[in-house]
Amino acid sequence: MEKVIIFDTTLRDGEQAAGSSLNVQEKLEIARHLERMGVDIIEAGFPISSPGDFEAVRRIACEIKQSTICGLARAVAADIDAAWNAIEEAAQPRIHVFISASDIHLMHQLKKSREQVHEMAVAMVVHAKKHTEDIEFSPMDASRSNPEFIYQLLTDVIKAGATTVNIPDTVGYAIPEEFGQLIKNIFENVENIHKAVVSVHCHNDLGLAVANSLQAVQCGARQVECTVNGIGERAGNASLEEVVMAIATRGDLFNLTTNIKTQQIYSASRLVSELTGFAVQANKAIVGANAFRHQSGIHQDGVIKLASTYEIIDPRAVGVPASSLVMGKLSGRHAFKERLAELGYGLSEADFERVFAAFKELADKKKEVTDRDIESLMAEDKRTVTEYYHLERIQVTCGDRGIPTAAVKLIGPNGKELADAALGTGPVDATYKAINRLVKVPNVLTEFSVNSVTEGIDAIGEVLIRIESDGVSYTGRGADPDIVVASAKAYMNALNRLLSSKKQGTQDTS
Ligand code: MN
Repeated sequence: MEKVIIFDTTLRDGEQAAGSSLNVQEKLEIARHLERMGVDIIEAGFPISSPGDFEAVRRIACEIKQSTICGLARAVAADIDAAWNAIEEAAQPRIHVFISASDIHLMHQLKKSREQVHEMAVAMVVHAKKHTEDIEFSPMDASRSNPEFIYQLLTDVIKAGATTVNIPDTVGYAIPEEFGQLIKNIFENVENIHKAVVSVHCHNDLGLAVANSLQAVQCGARQVECTVNGIGERAGNASLEEVVMAIATRGDLFNLTTNIKTQQIYSASRLVSELTGFAVQANKAIVGANAFRHQSGIHQDGVIKLASTYEIIDPRAVGVPASSLVMGKLSGRHAFKERLAELGYGLSEADFERVFAAFKELADKKKEVTDRDIESLMAEDKRTVTEYYHLERIQVTCGDRGIPTAAVKLIGPNGKELADAALGTGPVDATYKAINRLVKVPNVLTEFSVNSVTEGIDAIGEVLIRIESDGVSYTGRGADPDIVVASAKAYMNALNRLLSSKKQGTQDTS
């Protein structure tokens, strides 16, 4: 069967989503999971955009060997050289060169003529080709460009050495039938098109990114650019899990396959959601909390008799964990390690020991530890963040008559103990004020949410926050059966992230 190449851009276009702020370690962890999942090409970043992005792409290129590692570049030599410097260690490097192609972009943004753009595109593909064989070219805003201009551009960049030509619906404007027609026309009007792979890159501004991508596949496109959970610029990109599962579930129609190990999809979704701080909506296809829950009595009755009466996908095929209660305080090291592996987490020995200790502590407070509890332990684990300040103790008083008061003790740099207290309008406010008196970093809290991880009165509370400092936002996560403690942990997590990014100078400014 013919293959559709899966090109994942979670770390590039996904990272461009407003409010995203992954650090180098987090990008690496996502890249490892994408590799494990069988993604063909990982677009790891836009190296010239910031030193932090460059470093992340370089580290990914050094470590990931199964997937092709792609670096993005505008059609200018400095971008292409930076992209190459970042990916040259990769086992299979790819440079992705893009330039605007629509008249609206040319006239109002780039201020260049079609002839100038054509000349730059060809010259820069030739330049990129000096570095490596595998070159992708994208005419940005292709779906709103003059088709004749696109045909000419593609013909000449393929002559210059482009091995993949990508057709982006940059602003999510296309409708499936018309986008499919554009792909068909490209096959008919670009004489050397068979020398390149035709790719598509669709955005979801009208909710059609996946539909447009699938239509393009039916018209001959053989690479789809997508992101985990569909995150990305504005309304996001085509969602990897939806594209892959549509092709797998409707094999009768597509007669195509992908290299994706679908059992890794659910854990990929959880990981990306945890690290980016973007929650997955409950009714999200494939990976939402309700995607495999049946509420109607008639449906439940059917599913009990034969699952396929109302389920078109077996939840196990995408790695959705069974909701059964599996672990408790008597569970040993081995069982816990196995459960982690089943949930898609591969940890180093040192990381495992720390998470195991946290699990034991939790199992003491809570009789039954579910998969969701384990996921939340992993989400708040410190493996991707250097801890400059550690929350040692916290004590809070609150109530309708008292004045909310928080006392905190932190362990600071060099093991120094620091303690202070503050009053606030509520227990969380008092806690954050007390922490601010010790860790003196100006910041604004822009988002605060608390969720219960599982059902029951002893459920873990998971707190997710976002803080902003100097125009950059940082996420923080904390989990604890006590939501005030979880809030304090989330704040420390965000502050440590902020400090570590400032110390390493790896702020992403793209
Ligand atoms: Mn895009």
